[in-house]
Formats: sequence, structure tokens, C-alpha cells
Amino acid sequence: MNGGCQTVGRLAPSPTGLLHPGHASSFALAWLSARSKRGTIHLRLEDIDDSRCKPTLHGQIEEDLTWLGIDWDNAPLIQTGRLNAHREALESLKAQEAVYPCTCSRADIERAASAPQASDSAAGLQRRYPGTCSARSSREAIGLEARGSPFCWRLRQPREGWPGFQDGLQGAVNGTIADKEGDFIVWRAAKGNQSGGPSYQLAVVVDDAFQDVTEVVRGEDLLDSTPRQITLMRLLGLRIPAYFHVPLVVDTEGRRLAKRAGSLSLAQLRKMGEPPEKVLGKLALLWGINPNREPRLLANLIGAFDWAKITQGPWVWPV
Ligand code: GLU
Ligand code: ZN
Repeated sequence: MNGGCQTVGRLAPSPTGLLHPGHASSFALAWLSARSKRGTIHLRLEDIDDSRCKPTLHGQIEEDLTWLGIDWDNAPLIQTGRLNAHREALESLKAQEAVYPCTCSRADIERAASAPQASDSAAGLQRRYPGTCSARSSREAIGLEARGSPFCWRLRQPREGWPGFQDGLQGAVNGTIADKEGDFIVWRAAKGNQSGGPSYQLAVVVDDAFQDVTEVVRGEDLLDSTPRQITLMRLLGLRIPAYFHVPLVVDTEGRRLAKRAGSLSLAQLRKMGEPPEKVLGKLALLWGINPNREPRLLANLIGAFDWAKITQGPWVWPV
């Protein structure tokens, strides 16, 4: 139980690929933030997207984190083991008529959204859901099921809009940043031999609450998810944590270090003989808590860590 004064942070990697210095940056900051307040920190493997997740990566992720000097206080929570709790949350949302069954295919949504930005879909950008099915009540799912029509569950945007929030690093964030997707999916439709399941947005709030998380430190690419997650937490009666969205680490052309060709993973850096303190020294320079590229062990950065000192991005790698 958490009486409310102790900080509980979390590390929530998705086992979809090898960790790179961008992950190291976010996870090390999450760790420093919790540990500098003598808080605890929990590890959760977010493996609910079964088309992209590789269970073989769990061990690798733990090894990479440990190499960096990051430890955690729990036995890692595997998100797919939490399906019953996610399902219960969906039931609560249904009972409140906060969600509705949506039968639209991706093509339906493309068609309903008017054509001007035809290049959006080519660029892989997500279309705003136009609300086609939003007049349905949750009970209509029974008939859809009986007819065998596949559907997902979407959350209806609150009448007052998505809530803004105060971010520990970015300051006041307006809820309208979540508008671009519209009513979002909380439960995915079954497809082929894949069963339906919770979306990232639903799973993350249910599991953060289960793990008693009081602060969420993560990349600023998730900033526009937060108003949606706060909406879910309010509906589910869950405590809202503090948020710190940290700049992404990018390459010299400003592209996010992800699984791009040419961006070295932590495992590769390790194999090349790079010691973790060298990686951390450079990250700490980017963050603004190391005066130069001097190697630093993570544990030795606790004293220097202070959110007030953390710089705005972009954080360019290699340093
Ligand atoms: N598992 C998510 C990811 O790797 C992060 C979730 C979160 O920090 O809220 O992108
Ligand atoms: Zn629909």
C-alpha cells in the first residue's frame, strides 16, 4: 500500500526491439527522479501488442537496464498477465456508457475523413476518427456479436473536451493536443486469428494504478496520450500521477533514434566495449546535469539530478 507520500516511478518498455540510447535516456531519468526522492521504481513489460512484441526480448531488456545501473523493486509485471483487470475496466466504462462499439474499418475512416490531406495516409499519419458510430449504446454490442460483425470499443470524448494537465517539465499542457485522433480505441477488435484486447491507453492506466505509480516519466512523443489517459483515470476512479515528458533523443538530422539503420542499440554499444558510464556521461551532458562528456555512473548522478536543471531538447546523439 502507498500512503501517498512515497514516490513510485515506473519503467514501461515495450519488448518490440532492442533498446537504444533514446530509451536509456528516458529510463535513466525515470530512475533518477524516483531514486533522488528515495522512492521505489517498478518494471512493467508492455507486451499487449502481440503482433509487434517478442517475448525473447524480455531478458535482453532487463540486461540492458541492469548494464546502465538501473534497478527496480518488483518482480517485472508482464502486461499480458493483467487481461482480467483490463477487461474489468472495459466493463466499467461500458456500464457508464463512456464507450461505444465501432464497426468502422480503416478504409471507412479514410473515406469519411475528407480528402484534402491525401498524403497523410501515405505518410502513415493517423486519421481523426469522425465519430461515425458514436450514437451507439454499449448494449448494441450484443447484436453485433450475434451477427458476427467485428468491432472495437471507442471512448467518447467528454463534453468538456480532453483535460489539460500540468507537466513537471513542459509546464501547462492544453488538452486539445489529444483532439487529433478523436474518440480513441480502448479495446481492439478481434482480427483473423488474433483476439481483441486492451489498447495501450487502457492497459497503461489500469496497470499504473495497480502498481501504485505516483509519477510517470516518459518520452514527449506520448504527451498527447496523457489527456486521454487522464480521462480514463477519472472515469475509472484512479489516482492521477504526476507527469514528466522528456525530450526525445534524435540523430543529427533530427530524426528520432528508434530502430533506424545506423542508430546503435545499447547491446551493440556494449559489444563494442563502450562502458555504460560513457553513455550516461554523454546523456547527462544533454540533460544539463554534467558539465562535460565526463563518464558518469548512474548512481553517482543522483546528487546532481534536479528536474529544474533538465534542459529542453532536442537532445542530439551522438554527443
Ligand atoms: N510502453 C510504451 C512504449 O514503450 C511506453 C508507455 C508509457 O511510458 O506510458 O512506448
Ligand atoms: Zn465506427
